[in-house]
Amino acid sequence: MRRPGEMPVTSEPAPEVTSRAEPITDASTLDGAKGECAVVVEHLTKHFGERVAFDDVSFEVGYGEVFGFLGPNGAGKTTTVRTLGTLLAPTSGSATVAGIELCPENGPAIRSRISIMPESPGLYLRLTVMENLECFAGLYELDDIRGRIDRALRAVNLADRGTDQCGALSKGLRQRVALARALLNDPAVLFLDEPTSGLDPVATHEVHELIGSLREKGVTIFLTTHRLQEAERLCHRVAILSTTLRLIGRPHDLRDQLFSRSLDVRVRTRLEDPDAVLGGLPGVEGWEQAPSGYTLAVSDPEIAAPQVARALVGAGADILSLAESRHSLEDVYLELINEDVEAKNR
Ligand code: ATP
Repeated sequence: MRRPGEMPVTSEPAPEVTSRAEPITDASTLDGAKGECAVVVEHLTKHFGERVAFDDVSFEVGYGEVFGFLGPNGAGKTTTVRTLGTLLAPTSGSATVAGIELCPENGPAIRSRISIMPESPGLYLRLTVMENLECFAGLYELDDIRGRIDRALRAVNLADRGTDQCGALSKGLRQRVALARALLNDPAVLFLDEPTSGLDPVATHEVHELIGSLREKGVTIFLTTHRLQEAERLCHRVAILSTTLRLIGRPHDLRDQLFSRSLDVRVRTRLEDPDAVLGGLPGVEGWEQAPSGYTLAVSDPEIAAPQVARALVGAGADILSLAESRHSLEDVYLELINEDVEAKNR
């Protein structure tokens, strides 16, 4: 599909909570002053010797936002999370995390305000769920350990599994325990690194439901994932990283930026002279043959669709369907990443 011009990287500011596609229902849990960002990254770069993990990356994440961080293997996602989580020092650039400037002296303060749930749950398998959580709450030196554990277990629907040994839990349940652990300190920013990696569809669905309920409560989530449908479903905005930041925005805006709008028309029999019927209609910019009809590039589907329907009926065509083409976040991702692969192979 044609593209409506060269694609800029849009580093738009994080949206206001009230302007998001779906409302955050419990705004009282939003952390930080209104208008402040949970994460601000400016020209951040990380090199390991000669190897560049990520380069000149800038973006913002608003409080209460679920922010998807996507990119191919080796794109620099985990290194970005480790850097923002103060586990690695950046090579250059600056950032604030939970309102605190990223620098070595602020490491303990930032770590006390965030949580990182790594891809692998990393639980003590011989300990029970409760013992694991008590152990980690003790390491974090948290107060009201019992109350925090109760709340965290309820948040992940595991209130009745506290005495189960972690080694006896399924992978999906262990992931939920890891999520409960990440919630113990009421983090201002929750980093989830591929939370559904290796889970079956049912367990994946359960984790999605949990993330969805955290989103509803206004928890700020930085979600690294390879699952594009997951990102499309859960995230207010997504960023696509491929060493540099390639694109950032709301999923539907990215689709509109990257792809021309188009209509898919299915007809029972092909038109004898499609150009005479479809060419020059108001709002129609071009057409091409598709397997069972035509794909029309249009400026505005709402203007073009009735015109196209009238023209087709006028030409005696039997319309089987007429609908706007729906590009998924996966289409956006593949378009961008394939471009990178082609550029590298040139
Ligand atoms: P994946 O999706 O496969 O987990 P990723 O996007 O998380 O990949 P990173 O793990 O951040 O990518 O890796 C980015 C680059 O940095 C890769 O080239 C990787 O080999 C390199 N890298 C990461 N950690 C180190 C390290 N400790 N020492 C040297 N190079 C590293």
